[in-house]
Amino acid sequence: MVRMQASPYSMVSVEEALAAILSRTPVLGAEEVELSQCLGRVLAETVVASDDLPPFDAAAVDGYAVQSADRMQPRRVIAEVTAGQVEQLAVDRGTAMRIMTGAPLPEGADAVVMVEQTRESDGIVTVDALPRPGENIYRRGQDVFVGQEVLAPGTVLGAPEIGLLATVGRTRVRVYRRPVVAVLSTGDELIEPDESLRPGAIRDSNRYALLASVREAGGEPLSLGQVRDDEAEQEALIREGLRRADVVLTSGGVSVGSRDLIKPILQRIGTIHFGRVSFKPGKPTTFATVDGRLVFGLPGFPVSSLVSFEVFVRPALRKMQGYRQPGRPVIRVEVEHEIRPSADRPEYQRAVVRWHEGRLVATTTGAQRSSRLLSLAGANALLRIAPGTEPIPAGGQVDALLIGEISMESVT
Ligand code: AMP
Ligand code: MG
Repeated sequence: MVRMQASPYSMVSVEEALAAILSRTPVLGAEEVELSQCLGRVLAETVVASDDLPPFDAAAVDGYAVQSADRMQPRRVIAEVTAGQVEQLAVDRGTAMRIMTGAPLPEGADAVVMVEQTRESDGIVTVDALPRPGENIYRRGQDVFVGQEVLAPGTVLGAPEIGLLATVGRTRVRVYRRPVVAVLSTGDELIEPDESLRPGAIRDSNRYALLASVREAGGEPLSLGQVRDDEAEQEALIREGLRRADVVLTSGGVSVGSRDLIKPILQRIGTIHFGRVSFKPGKPTTFATVDGRLVFGLPGFPVSSLVSFEVFVRPALRKMQGYRQPGRPVIRVEVEHEIRPSADRPEYQRAVVRWHEGRLVATTTGAQRSSRLLSLAGANALLRIAPGTEPIPAGGQVDALLIGEISMESVT
C-alpha cells in the first residue's frame, strides 16, 4: 500500500524555476514557409533587398512633369503618362507632360508640379508657383535600396514585415519551427466533455484549455487524450508524446496523493529539475527532461494548470520559436480594491486591467480558488502579489503579467 507523505522535492522560486527551464530549452531549427503562412513566425534569416524601391524615379503626386529651368512660363502639354506605363517621349524646354502618381518620370523632366498648382487649357499648362528642381519626385531607391538589409533574424513577422517580404520579392522565407506540444490529462475521475456526468466524475477541461493555450502561444497542439491513474498506462502515453512532440504537458497527478504518479514516472525515465515551486496557484508544478525533451507536469486544478502554463511553459514555447523576449510584458498597475496576499508564497491573482482616467487600473475577477476557472475567464492580467501578512490597500501598485489586450472602456 502506498502511503502519503510530504513532498521530497525542495521548493524553488519562480525565478529559479524559469532559469531551470529556459537553460534547457533549445531554439528549434528553421524551416521554409510561404509568405501567406508566416504571420506571427520569427524570422531565421537576414532579408536583403534585391531591387530598389521604387525601382525607377516616379511622380510622387498627380500633376505635370516639367523642366524647372522653364520657371513660370506656360508649357505645351505633349503627352500623358499613367502608372505602369513608360513614356518614350522626353520633356523638352517649353513642354510638359500630364503625369499620375507612381508613373515613371519621363526623360528630361526634373520636377513634378502638383495639379492643384496648375491650370491647363487648350493644351497649355501654366503653373502658379516656381517649380523647384527635384520637387515631387519619388526617387529610385528612396525607400529601400538594393542590397539593404530590410529584416533581421529574430524579427516577428506581422503585416508590415510580410508587406516588406512581398516588396523585395520573397515568396518563401526561413522561420523558426513551431514546437509540437503533446497534452495528456490524467485522472480516474475524468470524462470527456460530451459525456454525461456519473457519480464521482468531472469533465476534462484542462486538456482543451491547454491545447488552446499551446496554439495561442504559437505551438502545434497534439492531444494524447485522457489516461487513468495507472503508472504503466501513463508512462506509455508520455513516451508516445516524447516520440511525437517536442514538449509534453501532463495535467494532474503531481501532488502528494496516493494516485499522483507523474513524478515517479518522470524520475524513472528522465531527470526532474524541480518538483515544487513557491508560487500560487500551482505549487506542485514539475519540470523534467527526458533525452533532452521537455516535460511539464502541470497541476490538476484548472486554474493552477493554466497559470503554470502562462508562467513556465509559454516562455519555453516562445523561446523554441525564436522569440528573443519569450515572456509576457510586465506592467505596473494600480489595484482598485484591497488585495490580501498569501502568507508564504507569491501569488498570481487574476484580474482585468483597463485604462481609467489615464491610469492602468486592475479589478479582481473574484474568488481566486484554483478550482474556479471563472477567475481566469476574461482576465487580461496576472497580478504578482508578493507574500506577506499586510493587505495591499486600494490604490496600491503591483506588477502584472499582461496576458491579454487592454480595453479603453470601463468594465463596470
Ligand atoms: P490532481 O492534481 O490530479 O490531484 O487534481 C486536482 C484537482 O483537479 C482534482 O479536483 C481534479 O479532479 C481536478 N482535475 C484534474 N484533472 C483535471 C482536468 N483535466 N480537468 C478538470 N479538472 C481536473
Ligand atoms: Mg489526479
